Amino acid sequence: MNKTDQAIAELLDMIRSGQVAGGDRLPTEAELVERIGVSRSAVREAVQSLSFAGVLRVQQGGGTFVTDLAPERLLRSTGLVLELSGGDMLAELYAVRRMLEPEAAALAVERLTDAGIETLRSRVDAMRAATEPEAFVQADIAFHDTVAEIAGNRTLRALLDTLRSEATLGLIRRAREEERAEARSIAEHDAILAAMEQRDAELARAATLVHLAQGQHWLDSATA
Ligand SMILES: [Zn+2]
Repeated sequence: MNKTDQAIAELLDMIRSGQVAGGDRLPTEAELVERIGVSRSAVREAVQSLSFAGVLRVQQGGGTFVTDLAPERLLRSTGLVLELSGGDMLAELYAVRRMLEPEAAALAVERLTDAGIETLRSRVDAMRAATEPEAFVQADIAFHDTVAEIAGNRTLRALLDTLRSEATLGLIRRAREEERAEARSIAEHDAILAAMEQRDAELARAATLVHLAQGQHWLDSATA
């Protein structure tokens, strides 16, 4: 392990063990050098890396703090890495999304309220009303994000948000325009909504999988 990696590991360990908690100020650079036993530049690089990863926040002239460690924050840099990777990564991202969205739908059924149903219905209505592909895709994303929000697992929601990257959606959108398949997509969302209204978790899971599998087909044809 090089010195920077060692410093990163030590800093993460301090957080994991609770020596410093979310929002706490980190010991000074000099103290960290002493404590970890690496050079000042290794500490500095470690702090920079962890800032990029959303774990630490360097306040100008005011020290370094642990962030709130919210999943959305921690996964943001993952999203950036995935977006920049391109190529096969898009297909992999979509495959993971295909694994997780059906589970989110099944989870959401357990916690669904009438207000949740109304919000979901308004998302599908927005898809139906969309005149531009952009608006259509945004309403589509909003539908799935609402499902994930209702599911009540912040990490799952943040992860799915990362997976529904613009790049992936852009490809799907292009495929959709070619196939003129918006009506079909709306029907798929209606099927998910109907299953959720019936409080049928299995059916919601299956309907979501069918929808995502269809998207996979478009993605494959767009990247082929
Ligand atoms: Zn969708």
